[in-house]
Formats: sequence, structure tokens, C-alpha cells
Amino acid sequence: ISKLRQSLEDNVRNLFMEAPAVICVLRGPQHVFELANDKYQELVGRRDILGIPVREALPELEGQGFYELLDNVYATGQPHIGREVPIQINQGSGKLEEVFLNFVYQASHNSEGEINGILVHAVDVSEQVLARIKIEESEQHFRKLTDTVPAIIWITEPDGNCSYLNQNWYDYTGQTEAEAKGFGWLEATHPDDKAETGNIFLEANAQQKQFSASYRLKVKNGGYRWAIDKGSPKFSEEGVYEGMIGTVVDVHEEKLAAEKIRDSEKQFSTLANNIQNLAWIADEEGWIYWYNQRWYDYTGTTLEEMKGWGWQKVHHPDHVNNIVEMSKKLWITNEAFELTFPLRRYDGEYRWFLTRGVPITDENGKIINWIGTNTDIEEQRLNDLRKDEFISIASHELKTPLTIVKGYLQMLDLLLDDSNGNAHVLLSKASQSVNRLNELIGELLDVSKIKLGKLNYRISTFDFNSMVAGTVESMQITSPEHTIIMTGSVSQAVTGDQDRLQQVIVNLLTNAIKYSPGSNKVFINIEQQDNLVKVSVRDTGIGITKDDLPKIFDKYHRLDEHAVHFQGLGIGLFISYEIIERHHGSLWAESEPGVGSIFCFTLPLTQVASKL
Ligand code: ADP
Repeated sequence: ISKLRQSLEDNVRNLFMEAPAVICVLRGPQHVFELANDKYQELVGRRDILGIPVREALPELEGQGFYELLDNVYATGQPHIGREVPIQINQGSGKLEEVFLNFVYQASHNSEGEINGILVHAVDVSEQVLARIKIEESEQHFRKLTDTVPAIIWITEPDGNCSYLNQNWYDYTGQTEAEAKGFGWLEATHPDDKAETGNIFLEANAQQKQFSASYRLKVKNGGYRWAIDKGSPKFSEEGVYEGMIGTVVDVHEEKLAAEKIRDSEKQFSTLANNIQNLAWIADEEGWIYWYNQRWYDYTGTTLEEMKGWGWQKVHHPDHVNNIVEMSKKLWITNEAFELTFPLRRYDGEYRWFLTRGVPITDENGKIINWIGTNTDIEEQRLNDLRKDEFISIASHELKTPLTIVKGYLQMLDLLLDDSNGNAHVLLSKASQSVNRLNELIGELLDVSKIKLGKLNYRISTFDFNSMVAGTVESMQITSPEHTIIMTGSVSQAVTGDQDRLQQVIVNLLTNAIKYSPGSNKVFINIEQQDNLVKVSVRDTGIGITKDDLPKIFDKYHRLDEHAVHFQGLGIGLFISYEIIERHHGSLWAESEPGVGSIFCFTLPLTQVASKL
């Protein structure tokens, strides 16, 4: 039996000695070391402790409370459990080192049931404790850091509960930590946004996917501001879902600005879609990316077909190449432009449009967009055609009876003898009016001929000086109130249509006289400049405003304010312009209202007949 007992004791002892825990047995009220396993020996730096009371064996424990705990367990028999208790101990280096222990002091009893010792069982948990402290420190560090970033940061657990919000959240919303944690943060969102925000979040959390919501967030001092809240799922290294981390950003100003833009965009498209014109917007290179509804209605097309340079599809085959060429140049000039061309309607009919393009520039003058409109001028064009046609027919029809009247007047003049003095005066007045009428009809016929490209030119080389002088002389007779002052001369003969050029000079002088009723002089100067002849007709009359100046060369264009006071058809300058242009010269005017006007034209001297 004793042998058996011996081997059992040996076994227990071995188990004891080699156990991974720190174990010792203290005996008697002085806590004398009776037994200490290897781990224990290691803990105390392999000092000689067996047979020695604790206070002597481990004097550095003085003041750390362990002696007293042992005394208490020995006296009461109540076990003591310590958790993560720091102990300063000499582990052989001669210095005190800190170790964290989980331990149990358990009283042992003799066969009579009296306490005779204490079993100490401890586990070194230093590593865990230190790791935890490190985590706690880094967490603190993280908090400090997140509190300094200018954004709201939050962290939620896998179940969706919010476990962390940085200081900015509390500063912004005025919530307390207790109020915000869990799902309390939802209470800071606008009542109308709360349910939806909560649902979006729960959904994202359940799916472990990105979360994104925009809501109105309560501001501490009252009111709500728009915010964007975005979160991303976190996963451990093993891929286990750990909840979300996210940020909240105040986007109130941006949101309001965007709303404003949306409003004004809505206004713009309402306006653009309800005007009578077709309209479009192109980028800086002329690539059209938007048309108004009227465009689609008229052309019966879609944006897909029209995008970019798709507009060519609704242009007339006779004009499209020309328009494409022209538009290529237009986009580079960076200036507003006007073009007229026909556009195909949804039913295949072509109508003429006046197109205006206006560049829109940024503050540096760089073009960002082109805005264009197309105005239907078909009616106007047809009216113009009808008018031209009518004038052409009417003037033809008038010409014949007028020629007859003229003939009869001449015969009458021959028949009257000298005694009918008054009759002669009346007759010459009638002749004057008939001549004037003849001139007007001639002008009207010219216009319709120009229109048809049938204005004929009779080219000769003639003395320009005497042509002008002759014209001035005969004009002077019919305009006694004004003195026509002629200056200058040219040294070379001119090739061209003498009658037509004379017609231009008559026209300019007539206008100068007609539109300067208050003065009594008009001036004409001719000069030679290199290979040019330049003629300038100047008056000190009523003048023309800057806005009106470009229009006066248009057919039938008469300035409104002049029309009431001065007779005319508004075609003299149109014909003159055409004549000078056919001579490869140019005609222009400068004027200042109230001061007077100067009309000039130049003719190239190298002009050869064949070019006309
Ligand atoms: P009209 O028969 O009306 O004179 P024109 O074609 O000769 O027609 O001229 C067109 C318009 O230009 C005139 O109606 C007038 O308003 C303006 N105009 C032409 N010449 C002058 C001038 N010398 N001074 C002021 N206005 C002028």
C-alpha cells in the first residue's frame, strides 16, 4: 500500500511541478514555502525559498498587500480570488518587474479540519493585460485624433448599434453620449427623414454593404441642416463582419445651391420649350448637345439623331455643304452670327429660318457655350417675294402708259405757241413730274432686275472727272437751295458703266441734299489713292445713328424717324450698293446724328471690263 501511495504522490507531485500554472504551497501561519513548482520558481527568479516564510523569502512584496491577504485567508479560511493584479517582483534581474496575475489563495486543512496552510494557484496574464492596455491606449489615441478632424465620425457594431461618435457629433447636434449611442443618433435627424435613414442604415448593415444617406440633421442651436452620411463595412482579418465606420458631412450650402440651379434650369427649359423659336445649345466647338422641344416638334427628330453635327440631316441638300463650311469658320471667330437657310419640317417641307448664334463666355472671355435660335422667316420671305414680284409687274405696267404720256406732253409742247405762256409753265411742271415718276419706276425696275441678276452693265473707259462734274452741274440746276461743292480730281480714266456710276453719285447727292434741310451746302470730293478712285459725299444734315447705319443699304429700308418727313422708297442705297459691288468696289457710310453724314465709295482702277 505504501508503495502504491508513494507512486500516487509522485504522480501528483509531477503534475503539480510541471503544470503550466504558477503553484506553491505555504505552510503554517508564517506561510513557509513548502513546495513551489517550476513556474513559481521562474516567477521569483529561482531564489532559494523552500523552508523560508514568505516575508523573508520575497521581501519586495512588502507594502503590496499580499502578506495581509495570506494572513486573512489563513485566519478565516475564506479563499481569495485576484484578477489581473499587478505585482512588483524581482525575477532574477535584481530589479522589480511588473507582472499581472490571476490567482487563488485557498486554505488547506489537516485531518482535524484545522487550517494548516495555503495553496497558491496563479496564472501570469501579463501579456493579455499589456495587450489590452495597448488597445485601450490606441483607442484613446484614435479618439483624440478623430475629435480633431473637421468631420463627424461614427462607428457601429455588427448589430447596428452605434458604439462611438466623435466629439464633433455632440458639438454639432447637442446630443449627449447617452442620447446618441445605440440608435439614439436617429433622433437627431429630421422627423421626416428619420424612418428612411434608419431603414437605409439597417439594410446596409444587414447586407454588410456601403451605407449612404442624405438627411436633415438637427443643429444644437435650433434648426436643421442637410448632411450626407456615408459608412463602409469593416471586416476582421478573418473576414468577420465587425460593423461600420462612417462620416457625416454638412452639405447644406451645396444642397441649397444645387436646388437653386435646378430651379433655374427648370425655368430655363420651361421658357426654352415654350418660345416660338427653335433653339439649341452647343459646346465651345459647336457640338450641339441640346435642342428645345420646338426643334424636335418641327423637325420630327430626336436628340440621338441631332446630337453634335446631326443637324445636317434636316438641311436642304442644295445648301448643306455651304452651311457646314460656313459654320466651321463661325465657331472659330467667337462672334455672334446670323445665317439664313431652309430647314426640313417633319412632313418633308422646307421653310426658311433666320439663325442667330451667340457665344457665352466665362469671366476670362473664354467661350463655354453657344446659344442659338432659329426663327421661321418663311412667311416674311414669301411676302418679300410677292412684293418683289408685284413691284416688278407694276413698274413694267406703269412704264408703258407713262412713256405714252411723256410723248403726248412733248407733242403738246410743240403744238402750243408762244402766246400760251402759262400753259408752257404748266407743261414743264407736268414734264418734271413725269420725269420724276419715270426715274422712280426705273429704280423699281432696277431692284427687280438686281433680284433676278439681270441688271445690265454697259462697260466703257471714260473720264471720271468730267462725268462727276457733269453730274454735279445738272444736279445743281434741280436743287437750287443747296450749293454742291466739288473738290479734287483723278488722273486716270475709269473703266465701268458710266451711267450706273452716275446713278450712284446722283443718289448720294440727292440723299445728302434731302437729309440736310437746314443747311445750304453739300460736298463732293474725288481723289486717287494708289489703284483706287475714292468718292466722298458729305452733308451737314440730320445724320444716322450707329444702330441704323448698317441697315440703310437694305432694300426698302427707310429709317422710321426719317420716313415721315422725307419722301423716298428706300431703294436708292440698295441699288447703289449693288452697282458698286459689281464694280468690285466698296460703299460705306459714316455719320453722327445732328452733325451730318459722309458716304464714300471706292473703285479699283485696275478694273477690267471682263470682270463685270
Ligand atoms: P430713300 O429713298 O429713303 O432716301 P435710300 O436707300 O437712298 O432711300 O436711303 C435709305 C435710308 O437711309 C433713308 O431713308 C434715310 O433714312 C437714310 N439716309 C440715306 N442717306 C442719308 C443721309 N445723307 N443723311 C441721313 N440719312 C440718310
